[in-house]
Amino acid sequence: MRDPRYDILFEPVRIGPVTTKNRFYQVPHCNGMGYRDATALATMRAVKAEGGWGVVCSEQVEIHPTGDIAPFIELRNWDESDVAMLARIAEATHAKGALAGLQLAHNGMNAPNLYSREIPIGPVDLPVFSILNDPVQARAMDKDDIRNLRRWHRNAALRGKRAGYDLVYVYAGKLFGGAMFFLSRRFNTRGDEYGGSLENRARLLKELIEDTKDAVGDRMAVACRISVDELLGEEGLHAAEARDIIAHLAELPDLWDLTLSTWDNDSQTSRFAEEGYQEPFITGIKPLTSKPVVGVGRLTSPDYMVKLIRSGILDLIGAARPSIADPYLPNKIKEGRIDDIRECIGCNMCVAGDHTMSPSRCTQNPSFGEEWRRGWHPERINPATSRSSVLVVGGGPAGLEAAMMLGRRGYEVTLAEKSRSLGGRLVEERRLPGLAAWGRVADYREGQIDKLSNVTVYRESDLTADDIITFGCDHAVIATGSTWRRDGVARYLLKPVTVAEGADVLTPDDLWSGARPRGRRVVVYDDDHYYMGGVLAELLVSEGRDVTLVTPAPDVSNWMRNTMEQFRVQARLLQLGVKIITQHGLAAIGMKAVEAACVFTGRLTSIEADAAVLVTARLPHNALLKDVKARMAEGASLKSITVIGDAAAPGTIAAAVFAGRRYAEELEVVRDADAPLFRREVTQLAKGPLPWTTPA
Ligand code: ADP
Ligand code: SF4
Repeated sequence: MRDPRYDILFEPVRIGPVTTKNRFYQVPHCNGMGYRDATALATMRAVKAEGGWGVVCSEQVEIHPTGDIAPFIELRNWDESDVAMLARIAEATHAKGALAGLQLAHNGMNAPNLYSREIPIGPVDLPVFSILNDPVQARAMDKDDIRNLRRWHRNAALRGKRAGYDLVYVYAGKLFGGAMFFLSRRFNTRGDEYGGSLENRARLLKELIEDTKDAVGDRMAVACRISVDELLGEEGLHAAEARDIIAHLAELPDLWDLTLSTWDNDSQTSRFAEEGYQEPFITGIKPLTSKPVVGVGRLTSPDYMVKLIRSGILDLIGAARPSIADPYLPNKIKEGRIDDIRECIGCNMCVAGDHTMSPSRCTQNPSFGEEWRRGWHPERINPATSRSSVLVVGGGPAGLEAAMMLGRRGYEVTLAEKSRSLGGRLVEERRLPGLAAWGRVADYREGQIDKLSNVTVYRESDLTADDIITFGCDHAVIATGSTWRRDGVARYLLKPVTVAEGADVLTPDDLWSGARPRGRRVVVYDDDHYYMGGVLAELLVSEGRDVTLVTPAPDVSNWMRNTMEQFRVQARLLQLGVKIITQHGLAAIGMKAVEAACVFTGRLTSIEADAAVLVTARLPHNALLKDVKARMAEGASLKSITVIGDAAAPGTIAAAVFAGRRYAEELEVVRDADAPLFRREVTQLAKGPLPWTTPA
């Protein structure tokens, strides 16, 4: 059973009028579901409660139409009509044994109010500080506005109480919680009693906490989520000032929840920060208050969690991403199953869900967001209904996930991998700058497969269609990955680029196999826009090459705006001396130069280069599928052949893992081909009378 060193993590902690059964605290986190997918969201929270988290919080929940962050999709608590939805989530959380927390948020100057069309409000007249730089300006709040905001917040807390929550938040963090704009010297230049001194700037936050305690504090704990640094030096809210604010309000809330600001600083990825990166910022807060303190930092190691508690830094172990990657993390520690923990890899694919307004997905946990939609569970899967055997060809993320989950279903599984190592693309990608933690995707699955006696792994087995047919399995699944294209074709170029004879053109696959550009000057051409172009530029410059990154996009690794890394990637490349040419597509590759065309004017720029590395589209390895299908048409006995992952359509690692899981879930499950692919919640239609049914 559990290692007694970890007993401290399972001690109850009193938070105001409620007590959490242990120190595992799922801090509020967005999920791209919100009001659109409330039952899916409720089920996701319930699975975390089931996995042992003592407290399970909501995402930020809008309290009023004047703080509306459309197009992003979070929960709403605008009026009584939202209570049923909120109650469903609290009920689901309680049913599985956790306390339910509700993070109230008036987004203040962060809210462009695109849906409500209300004028945003904040401490001063300034453009909204929204993610999409909306052409909207906020209005400075007068005393009536402040009175209104306090009333809205109080009413939202009361609705939260009616919905059954145990904890309620006053949010002053990450420049999402509107009260933070008042705390900030940068934004708050008011001359009245809500601006100026620290006491004045903290007045609104103090009043909101007092109001909330007064309204619901008899039964609900009142938490304050506050940012302890903006990482902007003296300009922003910094550690010393945050400490003064916390010391000033020390005993007022029942719990302090510490974050960094803004969100990209709070949820840093493994490419830029190690587990525990928040320790320097959260150390020294606890002595300022007798109230419990929760903090985060992509915490997945139980030893480190114990250290944070024992050294008096935290009372509660906060987690958003680690609880997404493994909703059962607390139970696994409790049961002494440390090597079963599916550790977060810090890729922020989950964050990208929220940024793209789609249900969040997780690279490590393909069931995340699918708990209700598809009925998937992070730990369980329906047992097989037959004794069929399955051959999985390819041991990358898709093949590994498929083999592991098919094994858990009870099938007789054989996994054949061409190379000596399992992991597919990750075998090489985990060696790239900053991507070491991504290897956990392969390590976790390899470790789990080792424990399954019904899964046999053959390495160095490069299978042909013949091998697959003669192997004699019932089902075969092709997960053979993809190859990077060598001809420049992706989005900008749909026809192969002109290449001078003898020119040095490389792809990421060439770099994996040890090849390097012949000369010193290299153009990395990125028409992929995720991490690979930026990572390879970083690799090549660190090897002493003179690197120019060319991309048709407006910035480097453009899609990584969704993982909140774009800024960091570009900053790092510039610091390393990589030259960056944006909004230029590939025109031609010569012996001593690469020609790039301006995407607006077509004007050509010649970049001196001895070699070009092309990060463009990929070609799926699907030849085996075609060959086996042809053999089946000739009468070969195989019940099914399927292609998954990059071999079906090259995509993200998260998509490959999802594909592996989906194959395992759906094998031999009989369903109507036209039945809905997954459950969805359809907006309830308004009841009449309707404008066109009433006489004019
Ligand atoms: P995915 O992301 O879809 O899992 P990867 O490219 O990461 O794809 O992994 C594909 C794996 O399939 C690689 O490890 C590769 O070595 C292996 N593979 C490719 N072709 C064969 C084959 N014919 N037989 C066995 N393994 C193969
Ligand atoms: Fe962690 Fe990536 Fe999963 Fe997010 S998507 S929880 S960062 S593994």
